[in-house]
Amino acid sequence: MARSVPTFTGQVDGDGLGVTLIHEHIFVTDPELDVNMPHPEWDEQACIERAVQTLSSLYERGVRTVVDLTVIGLGRDVRRVAEVAARVPVQIVAATGCYASSVLPPFFCLNGPGLVVDGPDPLIDLFIGDITRGIARTQVRAGMIKIASDGAGLTPDVERVFGAAAAAHLRTGVPITTHSDAAARGGTAQQDALARLGVPLDRVVIGHSGDSLDLSYLRALADRGSYLGFDRFGMEHVGRDADRIRMLIALLDAGYVDRLVLSHDAAVFSRVTPPSWRKEHVPNWHMTHLFDTVLPQLRAAGVDDATLHRLMVVNPRRVLTGGA
Ligand SMILES: [Zn+2]
Repeated sequence: MARSVPTFTGQVDGDGLGVTLIHEHIFVTDPELDVNMPHPEWDEQACIERAVQTLSSLYERGVRTVVDLTVIGLGRDVRRVAEVAARVPVQIVAATGCYASSVLPPFFCLNGPGLVVDGPDPLIDLFIGDITRGIARTQVRAGMIKIASDGAGLTPDVERVFGAAAAAHLRTGVPITTHSDAAARGGTAQQDALARLGVPLDRVVIGHSGDSLDLSYLRALADRGSYLGFDRFGMEHVGRDADRIRMLIALLDAGYVDRLVLSHDAAVFSRVTPPSWRKEHVPNWHMTHLFDTVLPQLRAAGVDDATLHRLMVVNPRRVLTGGA
């Protein structure tokens, strides 16, 4: 059954989503460090202005929806993003979830079932509350659930996050997206864990799959029904765009057009890789790169407009709504 999708500026039907960037970040911060060790490049008002500019230039390129996968662990602040959302024509979807790829923050280690402060799992309350009531006492509700595993694999804390995400998905139908370690073929263990927890794998995006150079690994993920996130275009310190394009075309040729989503995993401001560093080392890692450079390269390689429409409009819509 197709769901409508919550955005910062209201509910949107599948038809209203349009061209969608499924994996981006507006502001990646660290509230504790921001208080105690302010970053010299962080100027809140200037960054809000830059976000308004960036998202407006996306609208000019045809983008209608951007999913902001900034969750707990990445400095989510929906009040700040709401200021941007109110000023731009692009719709922004908020996410719930937890970016903890090995250990959870101390609060969660002491609060939960069987722990020192015994009670219901606050992760499950957080995810379901963000989806059904609103994030941090705002009216903004989450339209995706973001989880992560990386080099450490599925540690007990990561398993707990996956369990909470599965519980929230099964209760609400909101899709799950991951940060995966593509080089280590980490998506397979993510699928195993989510399948064990009862999550239909066609409601899951295995994020960062586009960093893999292993076609048989990617085909196996897609054969189980999940979407492959080719979601780091421009992130050349992790992988080359030429390789991402080559793998993407190989998957299209193999018939996986319905299982692929494209994005950048870029940010307007990120404390961990600040603007000056990005400018010097990854100048193409920004949210207009797909439209200015990558899609024209795909067209030149023979990918037709109908295929691009499926990648940029139809597939993200199916992810977000669960419908056709
Ligand atoms: Zn991301």
